[in-house]
Amino acid sequence: MHTTALVLFSGGQDSTTCLAHALSKYQRVETIAFDYRQRHSVELQARLKVLAVLRAQFPTWSARLGQDHFLDLGVLGKVSETSLTREMAFSMEQTGLPNTFVPGRNLMFLTLAGALAYRRGLEVIVTGVCETDYSGYPDCRDDTMKAMQLALSLGMDKRLVIETPLMWIDKAATWQMAQDLGGERFVKLVVEHTHTCYLGDREHRHEWGYGCGACPACELRERGWRGYKSARPQVIQS
Ligand code: ZN
Repeated sequence: MHTTALVLFSGGQDSTTCLAHALSKYQRVETIAFDYRQRHSVELQARLKVLAVLRAQFPTWSARLGQDHFLDLGVLGKVSETSLTREMAFSMEQTGLPNTFVPGRNLMFLTLAGALAYRRGLEVIVTGVCETDYSGYPDCRDDTMKAMQLALSLGMDKRLVIETPLMWIDKAATWQMAQDLGGERFVKLVVEHTHTCYLGDREHRHEWGYGCGACPACELRERGWRGYKSARPQVIQS
């Protein structure tokens, strides 16, 4: 029975929902994020806000929420030419992958998370990767996660579990998971404070949160929100 976890927590909707999942399940939870000079560095500010609100408004989770780790991974921005790290338009590459794909990113994240988990005595690494709704990023696939779990466990001679609560669900179900884990108050937190938009837009406020409303990440978030809302009858308050 595992009792401790390290969550890859970027401050987006998915990783915030994964954090709530971990806080509901494990006794001690720590968080980690990476600065790889991403264009949407506003996400990194969002994550601090999310952590602060979690600590202030969710006492049961707060008691379990431990240290936050932030690692500089600027070297990743140096080796990759992608629209997430450079001022480039979003497009599809000849490989069939969007140019938001940063090759090796999740592999590096998981390797460093594994090293940190080893040092901090954390047994499970929780990550919000998903095969269902995404653009087919190969480093988000279930097979990649299982291979990384094996590589890390063998390479460190210590059993590490990689847990992916969102792997087989779509964005609407991710909103529903937030609701199930933390109720309306937590859904509000996700809407208000998590960040998804590729362009880092925090000016335009929609029902589903802040964002430009047009980039692929915003579209996905909005579509999920609509699916979630239409699946749940609205309570009309008189
Ligand atoms: Zn956007």
